[in-house]
Amino acid sequence: MNIVLLGPPGAGKGTQAKMISNRFGIPHISTGDMLREAISSKSELGKKVSDIVERGDLVPDDLMIKLVRNRITQEDAADGFILDGFPRTTVQAETLRDMLKEMGKKIDCAIFIDVSEEIVVKRISSRRVCPNCGKVYNLLSIKPKNDCKCDECGSKLIQRDDDKPETVRERYEVYLKNTKKVVDYYNSQGKLKTFDGSKDIDELKNSIINYLESL
Ligand code: AMP
Repeated sequence: MNIVLLGPPGAGKGTQAKMISNRFGIPHISTGDMLREAISSKSELGKKVSDIVERGDLVPDDLMIKLVRNRITQEDAADGFILDGFPRTTVQAETLRDMLKEMGKKIDCAIFIDVSEEIVVKRISSRRVCPNCGKVYNLLSIKPKNDCKCDECGSKLIQRDDDKPETVRERYEVYLKNTKKVVDYYNSQGKLKTFDGSKDIDELKNSIINYLESL
């Protein structure tokens, strides 16, 4: 099953994508994680995109398409994948459709987690990540045992630069301007299924799993 996961930053896409990935045994492909890895390893791509990501703007489509093309053609994605954070523009959505068509594949379903700006700003400014092992926490919901340290490896938790409230508002604006059109795109193809992202994580997870199992 090839799935795309859509929704504003802070909708809980990453958490839900990991859960779908485990449940169905398909890789979780997060373009945000891939870009952050490129930035921290100071690769060519990382140098090109670091300022853009820090501002909360969108990385140019051609760079994103190249990155995703390389990833979805890897062997572990042969039987399906869940894309998290891509496509974010209509050009990306249409190019993804064409790329998959060349491979004899298609997107089977687009899961849209809908949440308001107000909830998003509150949630994201409470998000903390471990810079060492990548584990993601939330001081409101997925709380670490100690507010400052990772439960898994003990490293000091940090706030992503683009999780600061002013950048979150900017990212929400960017989302409204571009990604809403991607939601409309999948809706017009009858592939969109909308979920209420204000629900708690487990309730949302159960609704999504039940839906995917029914397909
Ligand atoms: P995310 O973790 O998905 O919120 O992504 C973090 C940042 O990476 C975004 O604010 C963008 O700057 C960049 N990014 C991730 N995916 C894309 C994409 N599909 N198109 C353009 N920029 C992206």
